[in-house]
Amino acid sequence: MIEQGIREETSVYHEATNILHLGEEENDKYYDAVVPPIFQTSLFTSKTYEDFVKAINHAGDQYSYTRYGNPNFDILCKKIASLEGGDSALLTSSGVSAMSIAILAYAQSGGHIIAIRNLYGPTRSFLHYLEEKLNLQVTFISGDDVNELAAVIQPNTQLVVLESPASFLFNVQDLRKIAALCRGSGITTVIDNSNATPLFQKPLQLGIDVVVHSATKYLSGHSDTIGGFIVANQAQMEPIRRQHKLIGSSPAPFEAWLILRGLRTLPVRMKEHAKNALIIANFLESHPKVKRVHYPALSSFSQHELAKSQMSGFSSLFSFELDAASDRMVHFFNGLELIKIGLSWGGYESICNPLKVGFGSGFTEAQFSQMGITDQLVRLHVGLEEAGDLVDDLDRALRQV
Ligand SMILES: *Cc1c(COP(=O)(O)O)cnc(C)c1O
Repeated sequence: MIEQGIREETSVYHEATNILHLGEEENDKYYDAVVPPIFQTSLFTSKTYEDFVKAINHAGDQYSYTRYGNPNFDILCKKIASLEGGDSALLTSSGVSAMSIAILAYAQSGGHIIAIRNLYGPTRSFLHYLEEKLNLQVTFISGDDVNELAAVIQPNTQLVVLESPASFLFNVQDLRKIAALCRGSGITTVIDNSNATPLFQKPLQLGIDVVVHSATKYLSGHSDTIGGFIVANQAQMEPIRRQHKLIGSSPAPFEAWLILRGLRTLPVRMKEHAKNALIIANFLESHPKVKRVHYPALSSFSQHELAKSQMSGFSSLFSFELDAASDRMVHFFNGLELIKIGLSWGGYESICNPLKVGFGSGFTEAQFSQMGITDQLVRLHVGLEEAGDLVDDLDRALRQV
């Protein structure tokens, strides 16, 4: 009993402390090893009939089969649920599977979904896929104005899909207003919170129903694993849990162990990412060859005040537009020596790409222009290198343009 009392008190710790220790109170089960072992097993067996019944229901400390649950997953999920302030979290094999499962859990044949236009590409593609597959209708909006959302709600609207800050131009949605409107209309809200991380934005506390993360990005932070999370309170989680079970999208235990290894340093990494990003964004904003920087942390960003009202900090992913002819863009990218060219972000390394090229094929010029994506738009993830080295690298590349 006394021991239980002590454990309950652990909830008063700050989140940086919880990231390190929450969910690992029972390490006496693994010889008090400070790092949990990798439970690299597909199967857990039961000593008795009664234990098997518990294992099947994932009750107590009983497990049955890794697709349904594994100690490495549970340690992570307790930490992420606590960070987001939700009842529970689910771990999936990727951010894309987390988003697809969350959407599928609420999508219904013949129904209606509203989504912001500048969604992460594969999320948008999944919605188009559902349009064909389930004969449902998707309405895309900018997400910049809650009245625009109110105007497109239909009696059969089930779901609103958000991403704030969003991909490409990093525009933010007013999460409090959208949540209040949707709650009142019986519509479920889902947000991709990968960009802000739960350190800088806690959508459940603003009234959003379901939070999705790509753990591949900042949460793991080392560009060495892929994973995703879904976080929600009990009632909203029920259909998601069912969908997750049916899809069977659990990662391997080793991937969960890697995510945990990275997650432990999330607070210190995010501080450095944010500090570096502001230096780089200020440098770019004052550079004559840069037309515009799209970064919510800057006071020049049109939604800066709204962003500050719902976020407690800013990550290090943003975009900027060069003041250059389309055929000069190649010289910028090829002029970089330190900053890598690539798709992903959230790791220790700085990385950038020409956004339009990163999209691949399948989008028309009209769609690109509607999303605000030009040949000159560069997405930059500022890593943990010394800021001065990054400034020098960008300056060198900009001289080539
Ligand atoms: C990368 C990314 C995802 C997908 O995550 P994966 O782990 O690569 O599947 C989802 N949302 C956003 C905003 C992303 O950038």
